Amino acid sequence: MTAMSSAELVTAYIGIGANLGDASAQVQRAILQLGKLPDTSLDAQSSLFCTAPLDAGGDDYINAVARVKTCLSAHALLQGMQQIEQDFGRERPYPNAPRTLDLDLLLYGQSTFADAVLTVPHPRMTQRAFVLIPLLQIDPFIVIPNHGPAHQFAPLVVDQVIHKI
Ligand code: AMP
Repeated sequence: MTAMSSAELVTAYIGIGANLGDASAQVQRAILQLGKLPDTSLDAQSSLFCTAPLDAGGDDYINAVARVKTCLSAHALLQGMQQIEQDFGRERPYPNAPRTLDLDLLLYGQSTFADAVLTVPHPRMTQRAFVLIPLLQIDPFIVIPNHGPAHQFAPLVVDQVIHKI
């Protein structure tokens, strides 16, 4: 990350998932790529977790959450994430298709907004163990804007299979 005013720095959380090819290696490589986006640095990452597909078929997923510090706008950060997805050869033949890499912007500072391309906080993040468990591993007391402490949602996802690897 190049020198920048600390006043512009935003802490953002990104969910990472893959279930094609060498998914663990892809998730780990993607985390490193996130830290190489312009004006962005990798601040923390969770362990990798193995999860059963939710609302989709195919192999188990490898998931993780990364925390970055960035001066990019939320939309520029999303564009950078989508470029990384493309670099990993992601195709979207149909909704919830198996994917070499899926990146979701979970949280962008305290921002709450929704437009045609981006909803923050991510609208389904409180319903997914593969987001909540890695997120809570990084920041056990994190508060989701407009929702409250993330840990209060963990009991609601106990039926979703997830293993730390
Ligand atoms: P998917 O194919 O599941 O990765 O969904 C990607 C689509 O969701 C893209 O068209 C994004 O513009 C949109 N989207 C809306 N909010 C978010 C978010 N918080 N993170 C990632 N993608 C988002």
